[in-house]
Amino acid sequence: MRLSRYFLPVLKEDPKEAQIVSHRLMLRAGMIKQQSAGIYSWLPLGLKVLRRIEQIVHEEQARAGHIPVLMPTIQSADLWRESGRYDDYGQEMLRIKDRHDRDMLFGPTNEEVITDIFRAHVNSYKDLPLTLYQIQWKFRDEVRPRFGVMRGREFLMKDGYNFDLTREAALHAYNRHLVSYLRTYERMGLQAIPMRADGGPIGGDYTHEFLVLAETGESEVFYDSAITELKFGDRAIDYDSVEQCQSILEEFTSRYARTDETHDEATFAQIPEDRRRSARGIEVGQIFYFGTKYSESMGATVVGPDGARVPVEMGSHGIGVSRLLGAIIEASHDDKGIIWPEGVTPFHVGIVNLKQGDASTDSACQAIYDDLRAAGLDPLYDDRDERAGAKFAGMDLIGLPWRITVGPRGLANNKVELTSRRSGESEEMSPSEAVARIKAIYDPVIAAGYPV
Ligand code: ATP
Ligand code: MG
Repeated sequence: MRLSRYFLPVLKEDPKEAQIVSHRLMLRAGMIKQQSAGIYSWLPLGLKVLRRIEQIVHEEQARAGHIPVLMPTIQSADLWRESGRYDDYGQEMLRIKDRHDRDMLFGPTNEEVITDIFRAHVNSYKDLPLTLYQIQWKFRDEVRPRFGVMRGREFLMKDGYNFDLTREAALHAYNRHLVSYLRTYERMGLQAIPMRADGGPIGGDYTHEFLVLAETGESEVFYDSAITELKFGDRAIDYDSVEQCQSILEEFTSRYARTDETHDEATFAQIPEDRRRSARGIEVGQIFYFGTKYSESMGATVVGPDGARVPVEMGSHGIGVSRLLGAIIEASHDDKGIIWPEGVTPFHVGIVNLKQGDASTDSACQAIYDDLRAAGLDPLYDDRDERAGAKFAGMDLIGLPWRITVGPRGLANNKVELTSRRSGESEEMSPSEAVARIKAIYDPVIAAGYPV
């Protein structure tokens, strides 16, 4: 993309409504625009990151064998009456009447709709196991929408639902989700720690929340610092393997890590003192096993191997897709702006032309741009007629992890500069070396993908 033709409405001043750094930087970098409290338009740069995050979620769901669907945002109240949640859900549910005076609602979550789909189409245990998921907008009329996309009223969530014949199979689905989430967050450059949590309104015996440590997090968390040394990395896993998923789950959940809801002082006190930590965390996901809670009330049954009908075993599993943008920025920024991890960056690299209008500088920039694109990369070329300082400040603000700077003085020796946003370090090299370096940096990022 050429910046002169893009739509990137950056703000010079700090917006005063923003209380935390991610909200401030998303507004300043022209990623979002508030339309009403907790409701945002996604401007091109924000949308690009949102799409990268969605893509990683889709890929890791595909790898785990889960199947995408898309359910409506507007749901019928009658379904929620069947599960008994229509009255229970309270003020967070946005209730709507259609022209025939029928009660509708904007879905805050989708257990009812997915159970309705299941009962209409699945009859036999032979069709199990089955996990369906979607990435779709939710609406929750939060009392205090705040911190930008972190606590919106309208927000994008991945919600997935597993259907299994037995409790053991449903617990495997739970473990499989936990493992696939570890990999999902790591690809986004995040360490999200699974912590034992409280069932809440969805209910359930087994539930873990995934928390990203950050000072601005809304949750208070307690953990054994040994947990922060665990890396999921590049390990190959067979998601059908009960033993393998179980052993990874144990590796990542056996150390103490709790939110304040389930925190237990006595157990915490047994951790060696130098490893005991209390901090703040941002919840970026949660998984639940809840058994037959919805299948019983809504009549979602299957014929088992013995010919008898049984209610199906279920769980639900969410990732806060739009909240993740805020969480990533909270975890990765400096006083100049955002520092995107390579896995989610909106553009792979920025090209800064130090002398726009100079024929040889312009053509060197264009050649680098074309070569990067030919290599399957997505560069942002700052081809505006602007001061170098303004171009650098803009690139630092929007946080592309790599920058190639091209000026007439360097070009005289066939040199450009490659700069890392994270370390601030620059190196001189030929334009073709710079392209090769960028390609080598992104090769493993692209190789981590999975066909969806
Ligand atoms: P919270 O405790 O933060 O209100 P929740 O536990 O009610 O969240 P879940 O039902 O577990 O949320 O939803 C799955 C994920 O969706 C959460 O882990 C979170 O990342 C995200 N999420 C929930 N509410 C919001 C919101 N208002 N704005 C943005 N993301 C949200
Ligand atoms: Mg939750």
